[in-house]
Amino acid sequence: MKRRAFLAAAGAASTAGLARAAGMEDRPGAAGFAGVAGAAGLAGVTAPTATRAQTPAGPAARGTATRRTILAIGAHYDDCPFGIPGILLQAIARGHRVVILSMIGDYTNWKPVRGRGPALVEGTERVNADVGVESRFLPWASGRLQATEAHRRAVAEVVADVRPDDAFMLWSRDQHPDHEVASDLAKSALHLGDRVLADPFAPFVTPRRTYLYDNGPRHTIGFVPDTFVDVTPEWPRAIAWLGRLMAVTRDTAYTDGALDGAQRLKESLARYRGATCGVTYAEALSAANAYPQSLY
Ligand SMILES: [Zn+2]
Repeated sequence: MKRRAFLAAAGAASTAGLARAAGMEDRPGAAGFAGVAGAAGLAGVTAPTATRAQTPAGPAARGTATRRTILAIGAHYDDCPFGIPGILLQAIARGHRVVILSMIGDYTNWKPVRGRGPALVEGTERVNADVGVESRFLPWASGRLQATEAHRRAVAEVVADVRPDDAFMLWSRDQHPDHEVASDLAKSALHLGDRVLADPFAPFVTPRRTYLYDNGPRHTIGFVPDTFVDVTPEWPRAIAWLGRLMAVTRDTAYTDGALDGAQRLKESLARYRGATCGVTYAEALSAANAYPQSLY
């Protein structure tokens, strides 16, 4: 599909209602990009966890006093705060370091923030810092993210610098082309990143665990989670985080209370995931490999 069609759809998203979710960088209208969504999934890599657990790591890992580093990777500034805000807030509350890498750091070609591209990045950094998250951006623009060696190396350089213990990345099949490329780049960078660095023998930490997260209805295709995290205690702050980012996108003041379209979409998804595992609000993941869980 033509990029212009997507941008027009996204630009039209400033209308009210659920379509407001398109005010997020990455929410095209209905049919979107079905024609380009045929990339292979992670079959053969993605495997269910040994048991269904409600935490991404077992109790032993969660209870450790060791400070871990978490790298959450998305294509756009809002992918991680939409997909896994509750999980990231839990990590911060336990004293872990959380870094969000948004591969797209140039929003000058995105109509909803016409003339305010740098301000969107600065506002995102400010909002993320307020909740305790470090922000990293790469210089690319939407539609120009490419599965090239140069882009793989740039993402791998961030991984080498951050040295994550745990990582989160987008699911591989998605209506949005940026999401699919970002998933591809993240997979390579997280697990073969050292091999694409200028010096393949430079220090490099492969994450102990990697989980894939989805981008919600209308975008993600074929996502079947195997790991559920109860984020009910973090919910008010998680949904406020997303709301503040959407306010930056609209260039309006954020007010608690009334949810905008993106927040309502997230609420629907979190309630659905919660219903799936018997809690009020949950976020769901697919483990990139099989990880043992501690049940008792
Ligand atoms: Zn996105």
